[in-house]
Amino acid sequence: MSLLQRVKNFVRSKSIHVAYVDVGSCNGCDIEVLACLSPRYDIEQYGIYVHNNPREADILLVIGAFTPGWEEKLRSVWEKIPDPKAAIAIGNCPISGCVFNRPHSLIDPPVAKHIPISAQVPGCPPRPTEILSAVLAVAPVVFKDYEVKKR
Ligand code: SF4
Repeated sequence: MSLLQRVKNFVRSKSIHVAYVDVGSCNGCDIEVLACLSPRYDIEQYGIYVHNNPREADILLVIGAFTPGWEEKLRSVWEKIPDPKAAIAIGNCPISGCVFNRPHSLIDPPVAKHIPISAQVPGCPPRPTEILSAVLAVAPVVFKDYEVKKR
């Protein structure tokens, strides 16, 4: 690997933009994502910046049991994220539907049926440290050797 590539990979690993989308949750997982921003977990010390602008994101956190109203919206959010990108399912809801997965419910898990999911963080809800670890584990894989295509 060239020195330039190594420098690029290092810089990218210290500047990870994360957007998150809630496709139908009880808000338990949202609170754990927000806790990552608190002084206790201080996600920004790892170079991770959380916002809700998919056009500037590298990683998308998906929270909640997938509901039909999100079919086009989630795909639209995903397509707005520039390459390289990855999505992480946060909590049991996007994996299995969790407590919302009952007979006659309208949810449609797993969310991996709708967009590519690179990692899952199970739990109801998962701990902020588990969310942080997943982002830190996935980001280097996403950025590894990625070259911006020349126009
Ligand atoms: S996984 Fe549990 S805490 Fe998270 S949104 Fe679903 S029901 Fe709520």
